[in-house]
Amino acid sequence: MKKGKAVVVFSGGQDSTTCLFWAMERFEEVEAVTFNYNQRHQLEIDCAKDICKELGINHHILDMGLLNQLTSNALTRDTIDVKDGEEGELPSTFVDGRNLIFLTFAAIYAKQKGAKHIITGVCETDFSGYPDCRDMFIKSLDVTLNLAMDYPFVIHTPLMWLNKAETWKLAEDLNALEFVKNKTLTCYNGVIADGCGECPACHLRNKGYEDYLNMLEEGGSN
Ligand SMILES: [Zn+2]
Repeated sequence: MKKGKAVVVFSGGQDSTTCLFWAMERFEEVEAVTFNYNQRHQLEIDCAKDICKELGINHHILDMGLLNQLTSNALTRDTIDVKDGEEGELPSTFVDGRNLIFLTFAAIYAKQKGAKHIITGVCETDFSGYPDCRDMFIKSLDVTLNLAMDYPFVIHTPLMWLNKAETWKLAEDLNALEFVKNKTLTCYNGVIADGCGECPACHLRNKGYEDYLNMLEEGGSN
Protein backbone atom coordinates (compact mmCIF):
# COMPACT_ATOMS: atom_id res chain seq x y z
CA MET A 1 0.00 0.00 0.00
CA LYS A 2 1.26 3.44 -0.90
CA LYS A 3 1.68 5.85 1.94
CA GLY A 4 3.54 8.99 2.86
CA LYS A 5 4.85 11.91 0.94
CA ALA A 6 8.14 12.03 -0.93
CA VAL A 7 10.35 14.54 -2.72
CA VAL A 8 12.57 13.30 -5.56
CA VAL A 9 15.74 15.17 -6.48
CA PHE A 10 15.15 15.21 -10.19
CA SER A 11 17.39 16.15 -13.12
CA GLY A 12 15.50 14.58 -16.02
CA GLY A 13 18.24 12.00 -16.53
CA GLN A 14 18.03 8.21 -16.60
CA ASP A 15 18.85 7.72 -12.93
CA SER A 16 16.57 10.30 -11.37
CA THR A 17 13.70 9.41 -13.73
CA THR A 18 14.01 5.78 -12.65
CA CYS A 19 13.94 7.03 -9.06
CA LEU A 20 10.81 9.03 -9.84
CA PHE A 21 9.02 5.89 -11.00
CA TRP A 22 10.36 4.03 -7.97
CA ALA A 23 8.90 6.70 -5.69
CA MET A 24 5.57 6.77 -7.53
CA GLU A 25 5.19 3.07 -6.84
CA ARG A 26 5.83 3.46 -3.12
CA PHE A 27 4.50 6.78 -1.94
CA GLU A 28 1.05 8.23 -1.97
CA GLU A 29 2.23 11.65 -2.95
CA VAL A 30 5.38 12.45 -4.93
CA GLU A 31 6.87 15.79 -5.87
CA ALA A 32 10.00 16.52 -7.87
CA VAL A 33 12.60 19.20 -7.28
CA THR A 34 15.01 20.29 -10.01
CA PHE A 35 17.93 22.59 -9.42
CA ASN A 36 18.80 25.28 -11.90
CA TYR A 37 22.46 26.21 -11.51
CA ASN A 38 22.85 27.52 -15.06
CA GLN A 39 24.21 24.15 -16.00
CA ARG A 40 25.69 23.63 -19.40
CA HIS A 41 22.38 22.59 -20.89
CA GLN A 42 19.28 24.52 -20.16
CA LEU A 43 17.64 21.70 -22.08
CA GLU A 44 18.06 19.59 -18.93
CA ILE A 45 15.52 21.79 -17.18
CA ASP A 46 13.08 21.61 -20.10
CA CYS A 47 13.45 17.85 -20.22
CA ALA A 48 12.75 17.57 -16.47
CA LYS A 49 9.68 19.80 -16.88
CA ASP A 50 8.29 17.74 -19.75
CA ILE A 51 8.72 14.47 -17.88
CA CYS A 52 6.92 15.76 -14.78
CA LYS A 53 4.13 17.20 -16.88
CA GLU A 54 3.63 13.90 -18.65
CA LEU A 55 3.62 11.94 -15.39
CA GLY A 56 1.41 14.46 -13.59
CA ILE A 57 4.05 15.17 -10.97
CA ASN A 58 4.14 18.43 -9.06
CA HIS A 59 7.46 19.96 -10.14
CA HIS A 60 9.51 22.70 -8.53
CA ILE A 61 12.55 24.32 -10.04
CA LEU A 62 14.84 25.96 -7.53
CA ASP A 63 17.31 28.59 -8.55
CA MET A 64 20.80 27.59 -7.46
CA GLY A 65 22.76 30.07 -9.53
CA LEU A 66 25.01 30.59 -6.54
CA LEU A 67 26.60 27.20 -7.16
CA ASN A 68 27.63 28.39 -10.60
CA GLN A 69 29.21 31.51 -9.13
CA LEU A 70 31.26 29.44 -6.72
CA THR A 71 32.47 26.57 -8.85
CA SER A 72 33.95 26.34 -12.29
CA ASN A 73 33.88 22.95 -13.95
CA ALA A 74 32.69 21.22 -17.08
CA LEU A 75 29.02 21.35 -16.11
CA THR A 76 28.97 25.03 -15.32
CA ARG A 77 31.44 26.32 -17.94
CA ASP A 78 31.26 25.76 -21.67
CA THR A 79 34.98 26.36 -21.90
CA ILE A 80 35.93 23.33 -19.81
CA ASP A 81 35.94 19.94 -21.52
CA VAL A 82 34.13 16.95 -20.08
CA LYS A 83 36.73 14.36 -19.15
CA ASP A 84 37.45 11.66 -16.62
CA GLY A 85 39.85 12.57 -13.85
CA GLU A 86 43.50 11.59 -14.11
CA GLU A 87 44.57 9.18 -11.41
CA GLY A 88 43.94 10.70 -8.01
CA GLU A 89 41.97 13.63 -9.45
CA LEU A 90 38.26 14.29 -9.59
CA PRO A 91 36.59 14.31 -13.04
CA SER A 92 36.05 17.72 -14.65
CA THR A 93 32.29 17.23 -14.22
CA PHE A 94 32.49 17.14 -10.44
CA VAL A 95 30.76 20.11 -8.82
CA ASP A 96 32.05 20.68 -5.29
CA GLY A 97 29.31 20.33 -2.73
CA ARG A 98 26.54 19.71 -5.24
CA ASN A 99 24.79 16.78 -3.56
CA LEU A 100 25.29 18.29 -0.13
CA ILE A 101 23.60 21.50 -1.24
CA PHE A 102 20.90 19.85 -3.33
CA LEU A 103 19.85 17.36 -0.69
CA THR A 104 19.88 20.05 1.98
CA PHE A 105 17.61 22.31 -0.07
CA ALA A 106 15.42 19.35 -1.01
CA ALA A 107 15.08 18.59 2.71
CA ILE A 108 14.14 22.17 3.58
CA TYR A 109 11.56 22.06 0.81
CA ALA A 110 10.29 18.64 1.91
CA LYS A 111 9.79 19.76 5.48
CA GLN A 112 7.67 22.75 4.39
CA LYS A 113 5.53 20.32 2.41
CA GLY A 114 5.21 17.84 5.26
CA ALA A 115 7.21 15.21 3.39
CA LYS A 116 9.81 13.18 5.22
CA HIS A 117 11.04 10.96 2.38
CA ILE A 118 13.74 12.26 0.05
CA ILE A 119 14.84 10.21 -2.96
CA THR A 120 18.10 10.66 -4.81
CA GLY A 121 19.67 8.67 -7.64
CA VAL A 122 23.22 8.72 -6.32
CA CYS A 123 25.14 5.50 -6.79
CA GLU A 124 28.35 4.16 -5.36
CA THR A 125 28.69 1.15 -7.69
CA ASP A 126 29.81 2.94 -10.81
CA PHE A 127 31.79 5.22 -8.54
CA SER A 128 33.27 7.77 -10.87
CA GLY A 129 35.19 9.50 -8.15
CA TYR A 130 32.38 11.66 -6.76
CA PRO A 131 32.79 11.66 -2.98
CA ASP A 132 29.23 12.89 -2.43
CA CYS A 133 27.74 9.81 -4.13
CA ARG A 134 29.02 7.49 -1.45
CA ASP A 135 26.63 5.70 0.88
CA MET A 136 28.65 6.87 3.87
CA PHE A 137 28.10 10.50 2.89
CA ILE A 138 24.34 10.03 2.43
CA LYS A 139 23.97 8.31 5.82
CA SER A 140 25.98 11.05 7.45
CA LEU A 141 23.90 13.78 5.80
CA ASP A 142 20.68 12.04 6.81
CA VAL A 143 21.74 12.27 10.45
CA THR A 144 22.81 15.87 10.00
CA LEU A 145 19.52 16.90 8.40
CA ASN A 146 17.54 15.21 11.17
CA LEU A 147 19.55 17.10 13.76
CA ALA A 148 19.52 20.37 11.85
CA MET A 149 15.75 20.54 11.50
CA ASP A 150 14.58 18.21 14.25
CA TYR A 151 12.58 16.30 11.68
CA PRO A 152 12.66 12.59 10.78
CA PHE A 153 13.94 12.75 7.21
CA VAL A 154 14.66 9.48 5.46
CA ILE A 155 16.95 9.69 2.43
CA HIS A 156 16.30 6.83 -0.01
CA THR A 157 18.93 5.80 -2.55
CA PRO A 158 17.36 3.06 -4.69
CA LEU A 159 20.31 2.99 -7.10
CA MET A 160 23.12 3.03 -4.54
CA TRP A 161 24.29 -0.56 -5.13
CA LEU A 162 23.10 -1.08 -8.70
CA ASN A 163 25.32 -1.01 -11.75
CA LYS A 164 24.05 0.68 -14.91
CA ALA A 165 22.63 -2.56 -16.33
CA GLU A 166 20.72 -3.18 -13.10
CA THR A 167 19.37 0.37 -13.21
CA TRP A 168 17.87 -0.42 -16.64
CA LYS A 169 16.48 -3.62 -15.15
CA LEU A 170 14.87 -1.62 -12.36
CA ALA A 171 13.24 0.66 -14.95
CA GLU A 172 11.90 -2.46 -16.67
CA ASP A 173 10.56 -3.82 -13.36
CA LEU A 174 8.77 -0.50 -12.86
CA ASN A 175 7.27 -0.75 -16.37
CA ALA A 176 9.18 2.36 -17.29
CA LEU A 177 11.95 1.10 -19.56
CA GLU A 178 10.68 2.66 -22.79
CA PHE A 179 9.83 5.90 -21.05
CA VAL A 180 13.27 6.17 -19.48
CA LYS A 181 15.02 5.18 -22.68
CA ASN A 182 13.19 7.66 -24.90
CA LYS A 183 12.45 10.68 -22.74
CA THR A 184 15.43 11.24 -20.48
CA LEU A 185 18.55 13.32 -21.00
CA THR A 186 21.88 12.03 -19.70
CA CYS A 187 24.19 13.20 -22.48
CA TYR A 188 26.67 15.99 -21.69
CA ASN A 189 26.11 17.32 -25.20
CA GLY A 190 22.42 17.78 -24.61
CA VAL A 191 21.09 15.06 -26.90
CA ILE A 192 17.93 13.47 -25.49
CA ALA A 193 17.29 9.66 -25.36
CA ASP A 194 20.24 7.71 -26.81
CA GLY A 195 22.48 10.79 -26.77
CA CYS A 196 25.48 11.85 -28.85
CA GLY A 197 27.19 8.51 -28.26
CA GLU A 198 30.55 10.21 -27.74
CA CYS A 199 30.65 11.77 -24.27
CA PRO A 200 31.47 9.89 -21.01
CA ALA A 201 27.82 9.98 -19.91
CA CYS A 202 26.69 8.40 -23.19
CA HIS A 203 29.39 5.74 -22.98
CA LEU A 204 28.25 4.80 -19.49
CA ARG A 205 24.56 4.84 -20.39
CA ASN A 206 24.90 2.93 -23.66
CA LYS A 207 27.26 0.35 -22.22
CA GLY A 208 24.85 -0.17 -19.34
CA TYR A 209 22.04 -0.76 -21.78
CA GLU A 210 24.08 -3.28 -23.76
CA ASP A 211 25.00 -5.07 -20.54
CA TYR A 212 21.34 -5.09 -19.59
CA LEU A 213 20.39 -6.71 -22.92
CA ASN A 214 23.14 -9.30 -22.43
CA MET A 215 21.90 -9.92 -18.92
CA LEU A 216 18.41 -10.62 -20.32
CA GLU A 217 19.79 -13.08 -22.86
CA GLU A 218 21.80 -14.93 -20.26
CA GLY A 219 19.06 -14.99 -17.65
CA GLY A 220 16.06 -15.55 -19.91
CA SER A 221 13.19 -13.12 -19.57
CA ASN A 222 13.54 -12.91 -15.80
ZN1 LIG B 1 26.60 12.31 -25.14
